[in-house]
Amino acid sequence: MEKETIALHGGYDKKSGFGSMSVPIEQTTAYAFRDAEHAANLFSLKELGPIYTRLTNPTTDVLEKRFAEIEGGASAIAVASGQSAIFYAIANLAEAGDNIIISNKLYGGAVTLLAHTIKRFGIKAKIFDCENVDNLESQIDDKTKAIFFESLSNPQIVVSDVDKIVSIAKKHGVVTVCDNTVATAALFNPISWGVDIVVHSLSKYTDGQGRAIGGIVVERDGLNEFFSSSPRYTHFSMPDESYHGLVYTSLPLPCFCLRIRLALLRDIGACISPFNAWLLINGLETLDLRVEKHSQNALEVAKFLEAHPKVKSVNYPALKSSSQNNRVEKYFKNGSASGLLSFDVGTYEEAKHIIDSVKLFSVVVNIGDSKSLITHPASTTHSQIPSDELVKSGINPATIRLSIGLENPKDLIADLTQAFN
Ligand SMILES: *Cc1c(COP(=O)(O)O)cnc(C)c1O
Repeated sequence: MEKETIALHGGYDKKSGFGSMSVPIEQTTAYAFRDAEHAANLFSLKELGPIYTRLTNPTTDVLEKRFAEIEGGASAIAVASGQSAIFYAIANLAEAGDNIIISNKLYGGAVTLLAHTIKRFGIKAKIFDCENVDNLESQIDDKTKAIFFESLSNPQIVVSDVDKIVSIAKKHGVVTVCDNTVATAALFNPISWGVDIVVHSLSKYTDGQGRAIGGIVVERDGLNEFFSSSPRYTHFSMPDESYHGLVYTSLPLPCFCLRIRLALLRDIGACISPFNAWLLINGLETLDLRVEKHSQNALEVAKFLEAHPKVKSVNYPALKSSSQNNRVEKYFKNGSASGLLSFDVGTYEEAKHIIDSVKLFSVVVNIGDSKSLITHPASTTHSQIPSDELVKSGINPATIRLSIGLENPKDLIADLTQAFN
């Protein structure tokens, strides 16, 4: 089936329960077992079924099945947030003494998590250039457990060279983890380009209306075979002492998400609430339609900005004039690039003036909402960074970032026009 259809029907049997058309919300902490044997079977995985909502929940299960199918994966696990999805994916691969190689263009929360917080767990991050991947291969060693990058990066709005990253990773048997939040599952599916693990913040375009935090990890098919013969990741094919000697790769279930569920989610517990899972299922149903409209609107606003005399430069990869346009055309559906764009005006003061003058845009540090958002990174998210370092990280003091929503683009352009004056 096609993605739009899966988004509406995948993972849910309407004939179950009362036949509710909307996926029911199973708002419960725990489940009653039929008897002692049933309980024992569930714990030993002889039978699959809900035990406790930290581990599984039937509403969350629909989200996971649906999302895995849309991303073309074998299995998915939904968790509390995008941040926890990234943490689980990395913690499932690396341990103290290992290293990971991360893109130079990442979400700020991913940078602090991967370069700073997990360093305290003994996992070191090295950095590669996601556009020009020359410095990737030379950094891989025996202890390298993951290559992490964003398909379309937030906030730099850069499209990674996925093909090259994947081919280098495959040559060395290193797992690739791609954060596909901004590109969305509607425009790009990393697994079909050879990526092993996909993570998302569902809080952005999947929810689409700024209502719920959630994250998801998706694995490609065939990882059980890969891990069984890989010397790098023996913890998947060796007995897990914490789970009475379970060998993950020996089960007829996709082992990557299974290990996150049985070991990491059990122990760390950043699970998603059934209510948020339900909101995200509803968001997913209209993802395709919304992302198409976000992309059309953003392209119109980008063209307007490109022609405006007070704008020095516009960064929107779907613009034909963008140096990244060839990668957008290669990877993303219809050459669309979702709703994130940025532009530079002359000075810090001019940028601040525009932020203070817009009426329709909300000054919010979020993306992917149905309502248009505006931020000035230099005075908000990046205000602690000295100005020379700002410029090095690609953030100009006069840069404004927009997350274009679903309003009529004429109104967005009118709002920006009056704000420039
Ligand atoms: C927002 C975001 C995250 C973090 O997700 P949360 O759901 O806020 O924890 C991770 N990666 C990217 C690209 C994001 O935009």
